[in-house]
Amino acid sequence: MDMRTPALLENYVAGQWVAGSGERTALTDPVTGDTLAFVSSAGLDLDAAFSYARDTAGPALRALSYGERAARLSQIVATLQANRDDYYAIATANAGTVATDSAVDIDGAIYTLSTLAKLGATLGDAHTLLDGAAVPLAKDASFAVRHVFRPTPGVALFINAFNFPAWGLWEKAAAALLSGVPVIVKPATSTAWLTQRMVADVVAAGILPPGSLSVICGSAAGLLDRIGPFDVVSFTGSADTAATLRAHPAFTQRSARINVEADSLNSAILLPDALPGTPAFDQFVREVAREMTVKSGQKCTAIRRALVPAEHFDAAAAAITERLARTVVGNPRNETVTMGALVSLAQKRAVLEGIAHLQAEAETLYDGNRDAAFVDAGPQSACVGPVLLGLRDGASGVRIHDTEVFGPVATLVGYRDLDDAIALARRAQGALVVSLYSNDAVAMRAPALALADAHGRVHAVDPSVAKSQTGHGNVMPQSLHGGPGRAGGGEELGGLRALRFYHVRSAVQGPAALVEALTQDAVEFPKG
Ligand code: NAP
Repeated sequence: MDMRTPALLENYVAGQWVAGSGERTALTDPVTGDTLAFVSSAGLDLDAAFSYARDTAGPALRALSYGERAARLSQIVATLQANRDDYYAIATANAGTVATDSAVDIDGAIYTLSTLAKLGATLGDAHTLLDGAAVPLAKDASFAVRHVFRPTPGVALFINAFNFPAWGLWEKAAAALLSGVPVIVKPATSTAWLTQRMVADVVAAGILPPGSLSVICGSAAGLLDRIGPFDVVSFTGSADTAATLRAHPAFTQRSARINVEADSLNSAILLPDALPGTPAFDQFVREVAREMTVKSGQKCTAIRRALVPAEHFDAAAAAITERLARTVVGNPRNETVTMGALVSLAQKRAVLEGIAHLQAEAETLYDGNRDAAFVDAGPQSACVGPVLLGLRDGASGVRIHDTEVFGPVATLVGYRDLDDAIALARRAQGALVVSLYSNDAVAMRAPALALADAHGRVHAVDPSVAKSQTGHGNVMPQSLHGGPGRAGGGEELGGLRALRFYHVRSAVQGPAALVEALTQDAVEFPKG
């Protein structure tokens, strides 16, 4: 793949490739500072883009059964697999990630798509999903009701974050396309290249009805103005942007649905029984260090607060520090490097400011930036070494519980007893994930349930799952992703539960014979 000449990445709308006009924004290599490509969404005919997707692609997609659409997802998987090497090259250049971190995004996307394809195939020839059995509304059962789910007859608009240009597209598009809803994706500008390239490959493969998948790179200006009452919007990004979006008339007046995945102060809790020297303690330490450094901590699910019994604070600090010190930060093209750059200089500035903000109340236990010598990457790069902060009395902290620093940064937090630990975890005001570490599986029952109402996912680990556990921060397509409150209140994935967002539920009441006839060409809405 030729990366030498920065090109203007075209947008794909209304079944056509269109170059934006006007001002272009440059996409850069966060390690070298080189310009890689340009984007612009200025001058696009957005009315045509939305109406073509809604009126031409939507009916064509919904003429297919769920099983047929699942088969298209499998074809997308094959197309993405065939171009995987190019995706890795783009990620290295545009996101500054080492190969194992690019895999989280690229192979995570492919695995998620293939999982949804397999689950979708079980829906077979159906065109309608049923929600429970018929219920009589008359004493003689002549008149009854049955609830049905039908795909929403609109467009799914995705406004995505910079940290998952591949997975962020496909974990949502898999569910939307399987539901029969066309997709328009607006990737975050700084890493839009990978999303745009994947869309280009899938479009070129001719897998989907024309207009089913569109990509708009650059500014989001005007997109929400086109959102109608049957469209759905998925936003992934910061809580501040989410708040701006929620106030738009698309939602306040036209009642379009919005799913928000926002920032999150996720925690990991070392339970009181997991003494230093026991396997669960080691699992906790490994996971905290890994979560801090995978994708340079630019994961919405990363551990931001590591909660330990106050008496084990020093032991945990020493063990995590020892692991972090092994991290080799720098240019992902150098094979000795284990952690690449942040995605941009703007993110580097934000992370360094965030660290300083937390340092006002937390001590610095390890700072990978002191005397840092980043490998093959100068001070002009967006590299930041891992930083472990600490607060022995967790309850005395404010900032550490409400400031998400989106980089290789976490705070070790001391707690007094399990009730205190649960209260501290809950100070996130709703988060994507909390993980528990114990040597006793059943001892995790009470904290798991006590934290489930404030977390989209509870990840519990004991020594019996040392090899099989899927990782605190990895979003498995079989499990729910999202979180209440501060995390945005969204829900994605969770197997076929993901289809719910793209469907409208209706209660069809009528003669028993009609209600029975609704079961033709239909299957029960799957539970997972
Ligand atoms: P961001 O600045 O809020 O941007 C997110 C997206 O919104 C980008 O595509 C951005 O476009 C767009 N945008 C910005 N202002 C907008 C506006 N006024 N109207 C419409 N769209 C607008 O967030 P980010 O910095 O890319 O992402 C980092 C954050 O995302 C972190 O807080 C992280 O926790 C969160 N995140 C959450 C999840 C999750 O699943 N819960 C996953 C990943 C990330 P431009 O790029 O063109 O500005």
